[in-house]
Amino acid sequence: MTKIKREKKRTVEFGGVKIGGNNPILIQSMTNTDTKDLRATLKQIKELEKAGCEIIRVSVPDIASAKNIKRIKEKINIPLVADIHFDSRLAIESMNYGADKIRINPGNIGDKDKVKEIVKVAKKKRVAIRVGINSGSLQRDILKRYKDRVTPEGMAESALRSIGILEEMKFKDIVVSVKSSDVLTTVGCYRILSKKGDWPLHLGITESGRAMAGIVKSSIGIGGLLMEGIGDTIRISLSGDPVDEIKAGWEILKSLNLRERGLSIISCPTCARTSIPVERISISLESVNDEVDLKPTKVAIMGCIVNGLGEAKEADFAFVGIEKNKAAFFKKGQFVCNLEPEKIVPFAKKVIKNNKK
Ligand code: SF4
Repeated sequence: MTKIKREKKRTVEFGGVKIGGNNPILIQSMTNTDTKDLRATLKQIKELEKAGCEIIRVSVPDIASAKNIKRIKEKINIPLVADIHFDSRLAIESMNYGADKIRINPGNIGDKDKVKEIVKVAKKKRVAIRVGINSGSLQRDILKRYKDRVTPEGMAESALRSIGILEEMKFKDIVVSVKSSDVLTTVGCYRILSKKGDWPLHLGITESGRAMAGIVKSSIGIGGLLMEGIGDTIRISLSGDPVDEIKAGWEILKSLNLRERGLSIISCPTCARTSIPVERISISLESVNDEVDLKPTKVAIMGCIVNGLGEAKEADFAFVGIEKNKAAFFKKGQFVCNLEPEKIVPFAKKVIKNNKK
């Protein structure tokens, strides 16, 4: 199996997880509920945890939301990040109420002293800080220098300026993100930053859109950087249910051989040779991931023997069409039995579920 060599970054620890260093690339998401609505926020975080979310961020637009951090934290099992814009008091209150990490956008926090106040508290409470630069909120003087255009260089400059304030205060638990909705600008900026320091990098393409378009855009940007060894945590930003962000994140990491989780389905696109209902079987099996806690399991659903026998060798379980209305079942590459197509789904669910952790 081909492996990606990751760039070595410092380890930053918060809320019971470690990122950077040799630690796995973690998947995070953000709630889209009102943080003041405790019930809705907890419900969504629980759904995200179940889908494999490893770090969760909530918006803190006011003091009431900051206060809820304590109650949210009592009920969840993953680190909680407070997302702060404009007001340094919200960052400080979030830390007082137990946030494991805060994300600040120094471009809109105000003057250096305000950032310093935040860092002072973070240091005392051992809270990590993500310097989260967004292309939509670059400092005016930087934009001016780059002729009012958002460039990778300008975004990197903005990030380095903010990191400088944290480092002046000997603060070390720094994570950095530099997100734009433009894939090439984002990639260019992460490349620059990755060479400038050893802070763990959180990757994302911001405001990437809905469903298909957002996942494609994020996969190209985030996937491209991961292939270069850049990135320590990821978030797929989608307009919609954040559970889809987690599912997409896992598919990216799984497809780059960076992590393993649950069921991976290999299925062919079908053609005139297809002798079993490949798509219908694949769709039916996808739900198994939500039903039981599986150990990493690779299942191949192949319409015929052209590529089917080869894929069967690589999979834990394989169902390969061999003639009209007849499939062969393989376990770890070994032929086990023949099956009629309508028996494949219940049979496959049974063998897959027995493969649980
Ligand atoms: S595996 Fe067979 S059925 Fe599937 S696309 Fe290839 S040739 Fe067609």
